[in-house]
Amino acid sequence: MSDQGYFCPACDHRLTDERVRHVRMKGVLSGEHFSVTVPFELPAKLGEYGGECKYPGLVLAPGARVDFRCPACDHSFTLPEKHNLSALKWIDAEGNERQVVFNRVLGRRMTAVVCLEQGRVLEVLGDEEEELTASLPELLGRMTWRV
Ligand SMILES: [Zn+2]
Repeated sequence: MSDQGYFCPACDHRLTDERVRHVRMKGVLSGEHFSVTVPFELPAKLGEYGGECKYPGLVLAPGARVDFRCPACDHSFTLPEKHNLSALKWIDAEGNERQVVFNRVLGRRMTAVVCLEQGRVLEVLGDEEEELTASLPELLGRMTWRV
């Protein structure tokens, strides 16, 4: 088995199943008077969207903002300076370490692959503005991931 897949940037917990089809995370949904933590499954393939909430009876509409977290260490994947975005560590098929940034608002389609070593965005999928993704390497480079 290769090490390919998604990992928590803070504790290195593996977030993908063996076949790297899904990314499994905790999702915190909250409103003014409630907060609930539920398991989420997102497609692992870059550019595929449609997160699934694994909680019977809970229906989410586009626009819902999920705070994705690590099931092992509870680290929030939300970027402190870009509240609509989440970032995960990704090891690609060649074993390269990347950061995958995605929009955490349900119905929004945006994924960016960032290489911290080279300090640049390698790939953008979906429909996010260019200025936003252009600032990602600098933003991610400034973050302290370890908890
Ligand atoms: Zn973690």
